[in-house]
Amino acid sequence: MSCNGCRVLRKGCSDGCTIRPCLQWIKSPEAQANATLFLAKFYGRAGLLNLMDAGPQNLRPAIFRSLLYEACGRIINPIYGAAGLLCSGTW
Ligand SMILES: [Zn+2]
Repeated sequence: MSCNGCRVLRKGCSDGCTIRPCLQWIKSPEAQANATLFLAKFYGRAGLLNLMDAGPQNLRPAIFRSLLYEACGRIINPIYGAAGLLCSGTW
C-alpha cells in the first residue's frame, strides 16, 4: 500500500520510503497528499526527493517540515522568505 506522498507523486513506495515517515505528523490523508504535492510543485519532484535524501533517515521528518515552512514563507514573502518573516516578527 502506497503512502499518500508517493501516491500523489505517482512513484513507487517501499518499506524504506523517504516520504512516509515525514507525513506521520499530519493527521488527515488528504492533508498529507496536499503537503507533498505543494512541496513537489515548489521544489520540483526530483528536487524535493534530493533534499529529503540529503539528510539521515531520522531527521527527514524535520527536513520535510522545514521545507514546508520555507516554501510557505517564500510564498507569503517572496523577497525575504521564511527568514524574513521571522526577523520582521510577522511569522
Ligand atoms: Zn511512500
